[in-house]
Amino acid sequence: MDVKKVEKMVAERGKAFKVLIVDDEPRIREIFRDFCELTNSVEVDMAENGADAVNKVENGNYDLVTMDLIMPEMAGVEAVSKIKKIKPHLPVIVITGNATERLVNQAGVKGASSILYKPVLLDNFIDEVVSTLERSPAK
Ligand SMILES: [Mg+2]
Repeated sequence: MDVKKVEKMVAERGKAFKVLIVDDEPRIREIFRDFCELTNSVEVDMAENGADAVNKVENGNYDLVTMDLIMPEMAGVEAVSKIKKIKPHLPVIVITGNATERLVNQAGVKGASSILYKPVLLDNFIDEVVSTLERSPAK
């Protein structure tokens, strides 16, 4: 995992990256949080459904969101759409297990940066987070 790259970016910008992890399964949220917390350069916040995520994006200042698709309250496709309206430049990585191709295509249309499929390995997660942060206009 390319921790050094993240740490260099954080040193340049002078503050840690804030990542919002959205998933209805606590175990998955905790795994992704643990991945992020391998470095002190990433602060993690978590949301358990789309409505919770949209509320947090409205009131917080995140650099990146990871978004599950199938969740109660508000599903990921609608949440991505709302988040892109509130913060058009905030990158969203969709991470899904068993979403249908139709759902995935909707998420893509609504502005997700990329899509990962569960189970997500540490290296793939970090690579995607780092490359998305590198491409972000707010880096
Ligand atoms: Mg789910």
